[in-house]
Amino acid sequence: MKYIGTRNPNIISEASKAVLKGICEDGGLFMPDKIPTMDKSLEELVNLSYQELAYEVMKLYMNDYTEDELKYCINNAYDSKFDTDVIAPLVKQNDVSILELFHGRTLAFKDMALSILPYLMKTAAKKNGIDKEIVILTATSGDTGKAALEGFADVEGTRIMVFFPEDGVSPVQKLQMVTQEGKNTCVVGIKGNFDDAQSAVKSIFTDPELIKELDDKGFMFSSANSINIGRLVPQVVYYFYAYMQMVRSGEIKLGEKINFTVPTGNFGNILAGYYAKCMGLPVNKFICASNDNKVLYDFFKTGTYDKNREFMVTVSPSMDILISSNLERLLCKLTSPEKTKELMASLAKEGKYSVDIKNDEIVGEFATKDETFKAIKDMYEKTGYVLDTHTAVAYAAYEKYKVETKDETKTVIVSTASPYKFTKDVLCAIDSKYESGDALELMTELENISKVSIPEPIKGIESRPVLHNNVCEKDGIKNFVREKLN
Ligand SMILES: *Cc1c(COP(=O)(O)O)cnc(C)c1O
Repeated sequence: MKYIGTRNPNIISEASKAVLKGICEDGGLFMPDKIPTMDKSLEELVNLSYQELAYEVMKLYMNDYTEDELKYCINNAYDSKFDTDVIAPLVKQNDVSILELFHGRTLAFKDMALSILPYLMKTAAKKNGIDKEIVILTATSGDTGKAALEGFADVEGTRIMVFFPEDGVSPVQKLQMVTQEGKNTCVVGIKGNFDDAQSAVKSIFTDPELIKELDDKGFMFSSANSINIGRLVPQVVYYFYAYMQMVRSGEIKLGEKINFTVPTGNFGNILAGYYAKCMGLPVNKFICASNDNKVLYDFFKTGTYDKNREFMVTVSPSMDILISSNLERLLCKLTSPEKTKELMASLAKEGKYSVDIKNDEIVGEFATKDETFKAIKDMYEKTGYVLDTHTAVAYAAYEKYKVETKDETKTVIVSTASPYKFTKDVLCAIDSKYESGDALELMTELENISKVSIPEPIKGIESRPVLHNNVCEKDGIKNFVREKLN
């Protein structure tokens, strides 16, 4: 298996080089020319630990890493940084199983991949004899930024710069980022939204002049966004792991198909699930759950992707995205690099494209703010379990899907964040009396009603010193990077 460009099959790369580059020179993304088939039976996988399973899955993609290299990366990533040995526990609540992906240091599923990416990258640099300082540029809708900072802080030979929408993240998300320690970290609020940040960062990666200029100074760029294959591949693991936990608990029989409902923004998480299915994991449907920025819902219903619409700031800010980068990898898988290139050109020029593809494996759904709040309240009243606002979009979407299709297949809700990151909205969903409360003070209240302690990494966050106060216009990102590295 090799990696090819989604817009040009003649761009060919080994895994480690694709991790280092992050994106192709022409703006396309690296993807496997053929998604590998799992070479072990489900029986052989069912009792593996998270780390063991991670090795079985990742070795098929990271195929130029040696066994020792890959195991070193895995064992250093999935350790006591996570607050549970299970790493990604599955809990049954009401009519669904919830895959909790927020037990890492920054309390969002981004930790699942960003705990290992720095190890994959450092190993790749060593293997390929790279002597440059690697500058990680990251656009974030709120959670990637902190997870990337935490992963790369004080990692020798790297610097990390994070761009987040000044007015588009939750108070806890913002505090998590601006209080980040580490000599090699830089955090910048931008006057714009996630799409602005992502477009600016992508344009830096594909600017030959700037790349040359910084190359002369001893720098090379890479990405910690899910455009990097090193983000995507580790995410495939937990789809297998969720399945094995369903089998172990007796919820399903080995071989039985299940559904996954995934709260989606940049289409990275759900695409990893789709890869797991292509590898042989028994999956019936993926429900792609959007918030009011429902470009993906419209795309799966009509075949037309159209970003020409108002950008909405919602209660699930990490999904406030109109340009879903990883959809490009699905398009390429279902059509061809030539066709994908055409579609992406149309997206750049007209802001939209239409395509006639037959895919009944992924179903689009969405949830409004009211539906999201209702999902949080319903789940809490029935079980006492508190969903975060993103996971609640997935749950609400699933309930709609179930009514529409009568599909009774056992379903996993992929839970992407701790409710503590979005305390205020979560509590307001449960009771409007919290509307006047302060987001940070309300954490104690959430602790009382959920019976889940305030997670260690954010305890006392309100009194930590603010270490970053850069602000920049959305058109000024390139210059900011240039000046910072001068
Ligand atoms: C990033 C994020 C998402 C969206 O994931 P994608 O891979 O971008 O689709 C959903 N929920 C939370 C909490 C996130 O941080």
